[in-house]
Amino acid sequence: MNTTTSAVTFNDFGLAEPILRAVTELGYRDPTPIQAQAIPIVLQGRDVMGAAQTGTGKTAGFALPILQRLMAHANASASPARHPVRALIIAPTRELADQIYANVAAYAKHTNLKSAVVFGGVDIKPQLAAMRAGCEVLIATPGRLLDHVEQRTVNLSQVEVFVMDEADRMLDMGFLPDIQRIINLLPASRQNLMFSATFSGEIRKLAESFLRQPVSVEVARRNAAAENVEQLVYRVPDADSKRAAVAQLVRDRQLAQVIVFTNTKIGAGRLARQLERDGLNASAIHGDKSQQERLATLEAFKKGEIVVLVATDVAARGLDIAELPAVINYDLPYSPEDYVHRIGRTGRAGASGVALSLMTGTDERLLDGIQKLIKREIPQQTLAIAGGGRPERGAGAAGERRRDEGAPRPPRPAREPREERAPRPAGRPDARPRGPALPGFSDDPFFFKPYESAPEETAAAAPAEGGAGGGLRRRQASRPVAALLGGKK
Ligand code: AMP
Repeated sequence: MNTTTSAVTFNDFGLAEPILRAVTELGYRDPTPIQAQAIPIVLQGRDVMGAAQTGTGKTAGFALPILQRLMAHANASASPARHPVRALIIAPTRELADQIYANVAAYAKHTNLKSAVVFGGVDIKPQLAAMRAGCEVLIATPGRLLDHVEQRTVNLSQVEVFVMDEADRMLDMGFLPDIQRIINLLPASRQNLMFSATFSGEIRKLAESFLRQPVSVEVARRNAAAENVEQLVYRVPDADSKRAAVAQLVRDRQLAQVIVFTNTKIGAGRLARQLERDGLNASAIHGDKSQQERLATLEAFKKGEIVVLVATDVAARGLDIAELPAVINYDLPYSPEDYVHRIGRTGRAGASGVALSLMTGTDERLLDGIQKLIKREIPQQTLAIAGGGRPERGAGAAGERRRDEGAPRPPRPAREPREERAPRPAGRPDARPRGPALPGFSDDPFFFKPYESAPEETAAAAPAEGGAGGGLRRRQASRPVAALLGGKK
């Protein structure tokens, strides 16, 4: 953790002893810059708009002062009525929700404040018991939270603090209607904190619609790609050469560990299998894997048992993986903002990292969009691939490979479905009517392009499909964000 720019100490915030003790036990010596900025403001009860990525220590930046503010309510009663939800934290993916929960639980360890997490893609039943027991701090993904609201297993009428984490990704994943419903369930008088790694026009509109005179807290330049990350684009002859290129880069650059990003789930799975055949210790993480598989893969990667983690954007979002030396973009992302998120996986907390991107002649438009967003040109090299880089036998049908791995892309690429809801076991009693966009919705570009970045920021952003799920709630989304959320604009 880079704590060098902060002169304050944790003792300066006036945090209660049980919270300070937990922080000390976790080995946090000094507040990170975002913590130094955010903690006093959150303690004052002010709304916050935070520009910070995961990896900056932002979770403690909001969780510690929230716990401090809730200390007045801490009690040892076993009665659920004495533990209503007072702080609600929503996050776009299960992994991020789980990570926030682990942090909050650790910070609250010596207090009588209870926390819980709910996310989709897993059986709802065990969560029902946790909800019935009561918790002061609830961390949730939006869809599953609404499932609980519908089942009346959660009551949000006593929420005092509402946190929206990774707001940009939340919009990107089509959660806006869910967020609107959730906000409508909260008491009007409350504190709001919103964090986002990037700030498109849509995000600013969302912020204006529900934050009240927010204080801006910023630790990185807006939409700045990590400064300490060496970026390089490798031109390869064609899409078929990319697998060999990845293997070669991992070996030649002696990358101890790397996340390789693909644009599709099917591409991620296939690439991991091919790399394994090439003798690399690789595994894939994407939305078609079960929650258990994803957590197990992540754990193995964190332990260093897996060298190459092949991931889709959604699956990798917000993962707190310390000291990752490199990321490789097997596919250039459709959205330039995803590039910023991807390379933010490395070079964290002052460490240096490399972000290597593979591109073919058909990817020029994607590269242009990225360079426009990060306001710099990425150096390019041509990668000569040893052995010609042709795929091995059994790597899949050539047509399928071309479609999946990039070469000639359709102008409107399909997006991954909303991660937190897939896969859902068939016939689950808690399943609400969802599924693909309803008939008649398909014409409305809003559903295929959940958020629209300011033109100067994402000039070449490809429209993205809202994905499966959302069903009826999506119908409301064709009005402007601020109007949706009761804002002034
Ligand atoms: P976050 O950005 O909240 O996901 O935090 C990234 C990582 O930094 C997590 O593993 C935290 O436990 C850790 N961390 C947060 N604050 C500090 C701190 N003040 N000192 C050292 N590590 C920290």
